[in-house]
Amino acid sequence: MSKQSIYGLTFDQLTEWLTSHGQKRFRADQVWNWLYKKRVANFSEMNNVNSETIDLLEEHFVLHTLEEDIRQESKDGTIKFLFKMADGNLIETVLMRFHYGLSVCVTTQVGCNIGCSFCASGLLRKNRDLTSAEIVEQIMNVQKHLDAQGKDERVSHIVVMGIGEPLDNFTNLMDFLYVVNDDKGLNIGARHITVSTSGLAHKIYEFADTDIQVNLAVSLHAPNNELRTSIMKINKAFPIEKLMKSIEYYLEKKNRRITYEYIMLRDVNDHKEEAVELAKLLHNHRHLAYVNLIPYNTVDEHIDYQRSESTSIQAFYETLKERGINCGVRWENGADIDAACGQLRSKQINKKKAI
Ligand code: SAH
Ligand code: SF4
Repeated sequence: MSKQSIYGLTFDQLTEWLTSHGQKRFRADQVWNWLYKKRVANFSEMNNVNSETIDLLEEHFVLHTLEEDIRQESKDGTIKFLFKMADGNLIETVLMRFHYGLSVCVTTQVGCNIGCSFCASGLLRKNRDLTSAEIVEQIMNVQKHLDAQGKDERVSHIVVMGIGEPLDNFTNLMDFLYVVNDDKGLNIGARHITVSTSGLAHKIYEFADTDIQVNLAVSLHAPNNELRTSIMKINKAFPIEKLMKSIEYYLEKKNRRITYEYIMLRDVNDHKEEAVELAKLLHNHRHLAYVNLIPYNTVDEHIDYQRSESTSIQAFYETLKERGINCGVRWENGADIDAACGQLRSKQINKKKAI
């Protein structure tokens, strides 16, 4: 059996593992401190941990399973990493710089089965879920890259908006969230973490019942079923009424603002009538709603879709505002390095296929 990456274990899981292998509980504190605060590259560097524990860890765990394949840096400071996993699958991770801090966008699955018609990730069907370790390691690798620059920079925010549907990999997603949020480790505040879903209503109920206060973003992209189904086939299984019911439950339980993502696709969903309909749909929840208008990043394989004109985006924004809906436009980072969801990975895979 191949060894497991230690980054996949939450603090409680590691404590349990150590005690069930005859080690003292406090070893878990020491090991976590070395892993997440000092960020060592080898177990042998954990020099206040006794050799028996080190041997045991070396026997059962590894520290790294991801290997950097490509790193692209944009003029605006965005860095895109393509990582190769132990089984050869490629995943991508993006570091973005904002005035409020450094945010990392992580991948949760190899490919995506939801198959939204505008998305590069959906072009490649899901091959497998990422383990919690593979999701945590994306953050660790980016943080170690920053450490190596010697500027004392820290990943302060996380968006779970890379390739994959996070709520379709629920247990591993939750373990990942517990690891990165833990104040004994990376200590990234729950309010600085956002999970984006295409709207798996049954999983939104489950997510609402968890005890972690991370932000939720829902990819809505259309205000009615006909239009939404035409671009997101998942809407057949979870139409807007079902989705809104799960959102109501979430709001009741968490009382936290939800972000609604809305990709602006030219002449598809960007007319005034859709803005009016969207405002109506969100009217009852407007105090806990924020609409993020996302100018579409064109994808070579989806020639039918174009980015909306900036005048349409502005008009859509104003229509929402006039109706009391909080909203903003997300201008993208790293436009010169294929930073949109799934783009670098799909290009690399296509290149490899062509060879
Ligand atoms: N599967 C999840 C999370 C990953 S996608 C979800 O769909 O929410 C993260 C966001 O990027 C989603 O809102 C998605 O619709 C959006 N997105 C996908 N392709 C895009 C593109 N080409 N341009 C702009 N946004 C895109
Ligand atoms: Fe999957 Fe999200 Fe892309 Fe849809 S938008 S195909 S859910 S990654």
